[in-house]
Amino acid sequence: MVVRAEVVVVGAGMFGSAAAKYIGRAGADVLVIGPEASAGGGSAPLSAYSAHRDEARIVRRLGWDRVWGTLDTRSADRLPTIEGESGVGFFTECGALALMGKGVRDRTREMLRLSAAAGVTVEEVSGTTLGTDFPDLGVPLVAGGVDGLLERRNAGYLNPRLMVRAQLELARAAGARLARGHVVDVRHGGGARGPWTLQVATGQGEFEVRAEKVLVAAGSLLNRSGALPAARELDLQAFTEPNLLFEVAGEQLRRLLALPTVVVVDPEDSGNDNLSAYLLPPVRYPDGKWYVRIGPGMQPLVHELRTASEMRAWCAAQTVTREQALFLRNAMRTLIPALEPVSVHAACCVVDKTPTRHPYIGALDEDGTLTVAVGGNGHGARGSDEIGRLAATVVLGQAWDFPLPQEVFAPRAAAPDPASARVRPGYLTPPYGLC
Ligand SMILES: Cc1cc2nc3c(=O)[nH]c(=O)nc-3n(C[C@H](O)[C@H](O)[C@H](O)COP(=O)(O)OP(=O)(O)OC[C@H]3O[C@@H](n4cnc5c(N)ncnc54)[C@H](O)[C@@H]3O)c2cc1C
Repeated sequence: MVVRAEVVVVGAGMFGSAAAKYIGRAGADVLVIGPEASAGGGSAPLSAYSAHRDEARIVRRLGWDRVWGTLDTRSADRLPTIEGESGVGFFTECGALALMGKGVRDRTREMLRLSAAAGVTVEEVSGTTLGTDFPDLGVPLVAGGVDGLLERRNAGYLNPRLMVRAQLELARAAGARLARGHVVDVRHGGGARGPWTLQVATGQGEFEVRAEKVLVAAGSLLNRSGALPAARELDLQAFTEPNLLFEVAGEQLRRLLALPTVVVVDPEDSGNDNLSAYLLPPVRYPDGKWYVRIGPGMQPLVHELRTASEMRAWCAAQTVTREQALFLRNAMRTLIPALEPVSVHAACCVVDKTPTRHPYIGALDEDGTLTVAVGGNGHGARGSDEIGRLAATVVLGQAWDFPLPQEVFAPRAAAPDPASARVRPGYLTPPYGLC
């Protein structure tokens, strides 16, 4: 069977679903290809794993820099519209707190200046206010102390699984088609301008897709998941993202529901003693239980996944290392000192990092028929609607209408032999930024 489309989007995740919506709304014939959100586990191919298969991603408008602040603010402003238009609720407004080490005061001031210019209300909160408003929250002993930056309104967390569902609903309403399957081969079908030919594997066999244009939005593992044409790997590293989920219930749950999301920014270059971490207040998971979730910064214990087998082993096992578990338990003890969990579970995901620290949104070939949107850098969920919109702009050859130049998002090709050449990327030194 051969399926034809003007534009094919590889990856029905956070970026791909948003992009498909905007491409469809522009009137193009678009086909999105990706596995069911529930895929993964056991011997599943790498393309089955996604960063949106979870229940909570932090939303805030305060950005680490102007690029992220603009992406996040534009997207966050549209979340109520996406919920309203799709009929799928996915946002919880619980507030977002950043505890910024005083060692990055200049950065903090600049972030506040940018957010004020964007009309975002960020409260500077003292330790006393934190103690009064959030009595269950402990403040980590970052050298020199921390500055508390709190967004009380329009901030909190989104459910990434449901947001993807909402975006796909809207894409479909705009005429997009969705095919469940894994792209296993992408190649230029001859001739200077395509068409592109893709092979798609499904539970029932394979089919072929012919398209004028391809947008690859295949997430953290795209260099190894079959989503890119041969020899088109990007300079993008995949890292383990270990989380611990602490089950809470009863009166403790009731109290902790008052917490905002929290991120700690420790600028000290102290290896695994660096205190950077993020925390989600209790969130209800599909098993009906409520969990407080904690994750690290980019300390050395967050190691790189270089080969397909390393990636598959990490994703399939869902087991964090002893070192990671120890770090996360200590971080939780600091942030919620009185926590008495009913149970504790590990959850393993993957984050991607680009050397620019920004997403790649741009064409990979000279004729502009192969585009990529990837590189959430561990916090791409909240900006995903704008990232998808910009990707659609590139795919459709429309005028660039973002306030920063397109070059900011220019994709970079991988070094010839990244697996053997790279030690730990030098750009991953503290401060790690805002998860
Ligand atoms: C533990 C964790 C915590 C995070 N916390 C936050 C947070 O608090 N706030 C925030 O904003 N962001 C956060 N993020 C980051 C955010 O989830 C990602 O940046 C975002 O999901 C990236 O979207 P994406 O579309 O690039 O990737 P994904 O959402 O992973 O989508 C990629 C899709 O491509 C599919 N795919 C891959 N290969 C193929 C193929 N060959 N054929 C077909 N389909 C393919 C995958 O199955 C997947 O569905 C977190 C991520 C993790 C892992």
